[in-house]
Amino acid sequence: MNWRGAKGCPGWTKKPRARNNETVIGAVVDNCLFCKIAEKKIPSSIVYEDEELMVFKDIRPAAPVHLLVIPKTHITTLSDCTAGHAPLLGRMLALAPRLAEEHGCAVTFNGDGEPSGGYKTLINSGPDGGQEIYHLHLHVIGGAHPWRVEPPRHG
Ligand code: AMP
Ligand code: ZN
Repeated sequence: MNWRGAKGCPGWTKKPRARNNETVIGAVVDNCLFCKIAEKKIPSSIVYEDEELMVFKDIRPAAPVHLLVIPKTHITTLSDCTAGHAPLLGRMLALAPRLAEEHGCAVTFNGDGEPSGGYKTLINSGPDGGQEIYHLHLHVIGGAHPWRVEPPRHG
């Protein structure tokens, strides 16, 4: 079953917290799509990885560059984060300019100080925030225009 087919499967999407049919194994939720990607049980186009974070290409890119930065441990949504998560969140955000540089969409300034290039960083939170996958992730979206401002909606 691909990720689209899995949409109707309870627990894969649109489910805010571990419930009875979701087993929390250490810091991994056993039927979370992005936990499975972090564990490499589901293939993805990984562009960066360290002990805490993984970055892979969005399967439905909204722009020439569309990357998702995730913590390898399961955090359901930004609203579950506290001050204790600040270092992790800082590392996620601080990775964006490096990724942009590596993927050709860094912000640069010419000799007259005119900026060019650039990218968006975006975290969707909850249904009204457009969150589809309930494992914290930071979108890094950039590249030459035109491209959609909002990430794709599914269904
Ligand atoms: P959000 O709406 O912020 O929850 O974004 C979820 C993103 O995950 C969407 O942009 C999807 O295209 C993307 N996505 C869903 N499944 C996969 C997958 N298997 N591999 C890569 N990206 C995915
Ligand atoms: Zn997860």
